Amino acid sequence: MIDFNIPPHTGAEEQYIQEAIEKRKLCGDGMFTRRCSEWMEQTLAVRHALLTTSCTHALEMAAVLTNIGTGDEVIMPSYTFVSTANAFVQRGAHIVFTDIRPDTMNLDERLVEDAVTPRTKVILPVHYAGVACDMDPLLDIARRYHLKVVEDAAQGIFSYYKGKALGSIGDYGCLSFHETKNLTMGEGGALLLQEDESLKKAEIIREKGTNRSQFFRGQIDKYTWVDYGSSYLPSELNAAYLWGQFTMFQEIQQDRMETWEFYHQAFQELEQAGYAARPVIPSYARHNAHMYYLKLEDLDTRTRFISYLKERGVMAVFHYIPLHSSPAGRKFGRFHGEDKYTTRESERLVRLPLFYGMGQESREKVVQTVKDFFTV
Ligand SMILES: *Cc1c(COP(=O)(O)O)cnc(C)c1O
Repeated sequence: MIDFNIPPHTGAEEQYIQEAIEKRKLCGDGMFTRRCSEWMEQTLAVRHALLTTSCTHALEMAAVLTNIGTGDEVIMPSYTFVSTANAFVQRGAHIVFTDIRPDTMNLDERLVEDAVTPRTKVILPVHYAGVACDMDPLLDIARRYHLKVVEDAAQGIFSYYKGKALGSIGDYGCLSFHETKNLTMGEGGALLLQEDESLKKAEIIREKGTNRSQFFRGQIDKYTWVDYGSSYLPSELNAAYLWGQFTMFQEIQQDRMETWEFYHQAFQELEQAGYAARPVIPSYARHNAHMYYLKLEDLDTRTRFISYLKERGVMAVFHYIPLHSSPAGRKFGRFHGEDKYTTRESERLVRLPLFYGMGQESREKVVQTVKDFFTV
């Protein structure tokens, strides 16, 4: 059987976990957390990076940093994971969903300005499949209406928009290191920040509302409760696993890219024959092989496709049920404009197995099984 996903493991991780244990410091913000943060700052060319317990938590921190409050509005796509919305619902915000572009499945930048109201505070692009949203028009709207931009770059590490790392473009960027993402620490994430002032506030939110981080740097002589906060710092054990992954990131990425390219090449014929659409990468985007998907004719074809593959030992999956049609989405938000593509395109999309080290034999089996579905 070919799994849909196996969490990345390179063999470099164990040694660092052992080191963390021997250091007798397991709680957050030790040596491995610091190494991971500095590595992200350098590699992604972002001013500040804070390791967090998940991308969900990074989004929650970003929500607090935007000062969003009851009744304020956030514009985001409906085609996303629940955490994108929950982080803002938790602060009392109202979610305004706008339609996606059918080519990238990303927020359609041309529809965002029309959804802006006097209550709008935040635009929240989600870089689906690690393929960049068209950020320049969104940044322009944000500047003209004094809005904050929070990037959900959960799937976007090592992806770029016009040469800039995803997550480093808006005011706040959120990455995920969940086991289904390119690099992992089990559960984990990072908050990327562009301003020193934001870092100060973020450190306080992450450290239970205290100024403990400043205390440890010797900048103040006692630490105390200074603002709202929670506990968003991961254990050193998790950070040590991630550090192992960071040291091997080129190998992981190269392997994923090979799988992606192999699929893309192999499915060209299917696309030309009109059976399935392949992912589109706009010229402004450099992607990270986070995901390989196909878009089939309709929901019924997809349902038959997934069970056909499953019977032959290939695990393919679909996601997301558009948030605006879910019970919570209806309660906490509204869809602005026409749902031309969100529902229709989401029902066509199916994700194929793609994970580090899946091997050529598995790639070939996936391709052959997919082709068989259409041609038998
Ligand atoms: C995975 C994912 C998240 C949540 O990440 P966690 O680290 O599991 O909290 C949020 N948004 C998107 C788009 C994701 O793919």
